[in-house]
Amino acid sequence: MSDSLLSTPIEYLKGVGPKRAALLRSELNIDSFEDLLYYYPFRYIDRSEYHRIRDLDESMGYAQIKGTVTAIEESGPKHRKRLKAGFTDDSGQMELIWFKGLHWIKSMLKPGADYLVYGKPVRYGKMFNMAHPEVEPLTSETTSNAGKLQPVYHSTEKLGASWLNSKGIEKLQRHLLEKLDGKITDALPPELIARYRMLSRDEALRQIHFPQSAELMQKAQFRLKFEEFLFIKTNRSLKLRGYQFEHVGNYFNHFYKEVLSFELTDAQKRVIKEMRSDMNTGRQMNRLLQGDVGSGKTIVALMCMLIALDNHCQAAMMTPTEILAGQHFKTLQQLTEKLGIKTALLTGSLGTRERKDVLQGIAGGEIDILVGTHALIQDNVAFRKLGLAIIDEQHRFGVAQRASLWHKGEIAPHVLVMTATPIPRTLAMTLYGDLDVSVIDELPPGRQTVKTVHRNESSRLRVFGFLKEQIAKGRQVYIVYPLIAESQKLDYKNLMDGYDAISSEFPIPQYQLSIVHGQMDADAKEFEMQRFKRGETQIMIATNVIEVGVDVPNATVMVIESAERFGLSQLHQLRGRVGRGGEQSYCILLTGKELSRNAKQRMNIMTETTDGFKISEADLQLRGPGDLMGTQQSGIPELRIGDLAKDGRIIQLARDAASGILKNDPGLELPEHSDLRKNLLEATKERRKWIRIS
Ligand code: ADP
Ligand code: MG
Repeated sequence: MSDSLLSTPIEYLKGVGPKRAALLRSELNIDSFEDLLYYYPFRYIDRSEYHRIRDLDESMGYAQIKGTVTAIEESGPKHRKRLKAGFTDDSGQMELIWFKGLHWIKSMLKPGADYLVYGKPVRYGKMFNMAHPEVEPLTSETTSNAGKLQPVYHSTEKLGASWLNSKGIEKLQRHLLEKLDGKITDALPPELIARYRMLSRDEALRQIHFPQSAELMQKAQFRLKFEEFLFIKTNRSLKLRGYQFEHVGNYFNHFYKEVLSFELTDAQKRVIKEMRSDMNTGRQMNRLLQGDVGSGKTIVALMCMLIALDNHCQAAMMTPTEILAGQHFKTLQQLTEKLGIKTALLTGSLGTRERKDVLQGIAGGEIDILVGTHALIQDNVAFRKLGLAIIDEQHRFGVAQRASLWHKGEIAPHVLVMTATPIPRTLAMTLYGDLDVSVIDELPPGRQTVKTVHRNESSRLRVFGFLKEQIAKGRQVYIVYPLIAESQKLDYKNLMDGYDAISSEFPIPQYQLSIVHGQMDADAKEFEMQRFKRGETQIMIATNVIEVGVDVPNATVMVIESAERFGLSQLHQLRGRVGRGGEQSYCILLTGKELSRNAKQRMNIMTETTDGFKISEADLQLRGPGDLMGTQQSGIPELRIGDLAKDGRIIQLARDAASGILKNDPGLELPEHSDLRKNLLEATKERRKWIRIS
């Protein structure tokens, strides 16, 4: 679909404009018409399925109910006001509750009127309630939509405040599809479409956003997944030209002989060798480096960067958070200063002046190594000669967050993606076949296994007692709360309530607390991190912003609140924050008493093993039907809709189709393949902006 219309900047869509465009960019990385078109719903509401109040059950997760609003009442002290509405259907009654936006909700709800509500039922005493439900007046339109599936899009608090909640995004999708009427061409050969009875691309894109039935939604998913896998598979055979790093010189050798203070593990040596030979082929390296938390990926990354420097190139390292960028910067700077290497840090919170200096140093080549967040991929960052780009902990980068690291240069830099949440190798091979993967399957000597236990909330006081013992021994502690985009407000409240509770249990001056969460600005976060790192505070209360990479060896306890709300790979990452020094470390998973089967299994796996590979295998098996579509991150960038865990059959079909096509027409030169070829080239351009890891 190579159409300039699709690359139109998003502000030109009806209903967007500059302000919302800026928000869409910063919040969702939606930059163009195309990005929006590929921003698929993550679930659908089936308007034909209702629950009755009498049949509600906490384990059902979410429920949709048709009923009537009865009395509306406001209560509570001034700053803790809440709004309650009675809600009944012919089977019983329940309560709807709001803590925020009371004024607006109040003006919208009318006692005696009928509504459709959607939310999470929670039992409170004898009655169920729903906090902040989605509410929609029951009109003839809602009723006539029965049977159709309504899309639900991920949104964020900031977007919501600008009317771009799920409904708002839905509206934009409608405008967009109208605008693209008749403009979406197909890419797959007609023969293939016929063979699998697939929808056309146009139809699939329309049905994925606005399915007319469950069956069509599934057909749309099939078509889009098939196409995605087919492109990846076919694309993989392309190899881009790359810098040839022929020598290993002074930087590398000096570092190895004089700076490095420990012996590399055999696994580290092996993967360095693999990459060394990769970067010496004249083709672009595109490699995934998997190594469990604490396995020593950073040193490996640095030594690869030194090879780049030895060959008169610059190197860059990109991280998902500012905290992590700062940390890597300090580590790298310490290690390379003696070699006369100039390292710089570039993040969004840099002052104008400093920023200018860094940009000049990068363009002029005085800076050898640049570390940063995705500020590093912005367009005005021009390298003199970027030879190697390293992306750390890539699973935190959203699929859409494509880097444009290199497309300034003639030659693509080598790319190394490092991750601690590996894709099981067998699975990766199914799709990628010849994906280049290096594995560090060995931890540095002397590491102790983190002892992991699962407790429910009634043990909290005992857990606090244990924390006090550890702190008395001079150790430090993390207490982590979940923060998930869908319910940021409630999560934030949980975090603050938790903070209050912990501060009264651990009073100053005996105890000092730090708090770090996503709504703080970068400086404040960094300030708190540093206090904790220096040992000035004993307890770090945080959301999962600290999930990746934070390195405080003296911290020995990781308490994870509401652990059931985290996925396995997140839990594993969080646990990896402790056990980094010589002391025995602990991970305490706190959950509610009633757990779903899936949550129980996750807790069991965590207490049974610390092996990242086993955990990722289990993760893939457990990722259940929660979301209708596989938007959960798979550890591999770029999959928009496909899900490696669930789409085995489609992957197989797409693979066979790809090899069938290439066998008869390796260069895609036959006329029936010209559209496919065109699309692949487009897709390649697209990828070149990011990384070709697939
Ligand atoms: P990760 O793979 O999680 O990114 P890091 O690179 O942060 O791991 O390494 C964790 C710690 O282990 C660091 O303090 C690092 O200096 C240390 N380390 C790395 N390799 C070795 C080694 N071969 N022997 C001893 N310590 C090592
Ligand atoms: Mg790391």
